[in-house]
Amino acid sequence: MSPLLISTDLDGTLLDHHTYSHAAAAPVLEALLKQHIPCILNTSKTFAELIELRQQLHHQDAFIVENGAAVYIPKTSQLGLLPGGNEISPLEDIGDYWRKAFAPSRSRMIDIIQELRDGYRFTGFSDMAVQDVIDLTGLSDAQARLAMQREYTEPLLWQDSPGALKRFANELSDMDLQIQRGGRFAHVMGLSDKSQAMLWIADLYTKAFGKAVTTMALGDGQNDVGMLSKADIAVVVRSPAHPPPKVPDRNDVWLTEHYGPEGWAEAVSKVLKDSGAQTDAAPDASQKPQ
Ligand SMILES: [Mg+2]
Repeated sequence: MSPLLISTDLDGTLLDHHTYSHAAAAPVLEALLKQHIPCILNTSKTFAELIELRQQLHHQDAFIVENGAAVYIPKTSQLGLLPGGNEISPLEDIGDYWRKAFAPSRSRMIDIIQELRDGYRFTGFSDMAVQDVIDLTGLSDAQARLAMQREYTEPLLWQDSPGALKRFANELSDMDLQIQRGGRFAHVMGLSDKSQAMLWIADLYTKAFGKAVTTMALGDGQNDVGMLSKADIAVVVRSPAHPPPKVPDRNDVWLTEHYGPEGWAEAVSKVLKDSGAQTDAAPDASQKPQ
């Protein structure tokens, strides 16, 4: 198998839906680190949230924030990036990282949302106090403050009908914005998604390795479907909170036996085992099709 590149969702996938713990996946994460297999975090979380979380995960690779809005690449990365960018596209210099953005800024989104909000019932992060976010998510005070430092997306707590959400999404699409449902919120965002950013970073690794990479994507939610549909190996991690999302036009999607980080570890260790044992990492019959 060509070199493996993992792109993983966090909440409900690598992190437990209820406790946000990654403990069940920690040994497999360590194995990836030792084998220099890039593990790209691909999440609706913010840059500010990931800085702290990456330390807990011992994470050293690039990461994708706010549902594909931007890729951050540590300057220590072995991707051979040059100051100011490379032949693929220009990169912004953000302290210890290079950044590639795929979306308009959040402040522009909030202006548009304010113009359209008459006739809809919802509460956006920009309308909420820190305590509101704590009550809704169970995050600590510090974690909630980090979650509110958003650069490219505005999460909405939708308090209206699904039909109204559809109408609101149609109005936003005229402004080149979209809504994606995450675990707890509807995220207003640009037209970027997790798959676009995943394919962009996979292209960088392809150039760095000098050969194509095998992409493996893991996610549990509707906002992971694009990423799952574009990955070579697609894994839906079973959720205790909702039914598995359907990935259209694919009949080879794996559904894990276990929930959250346990399911994550189950799928990644199986691919590691298969890739060590055979040249082709096609899933065997013991995997349950979705
Ligand atoms: Mg998730």
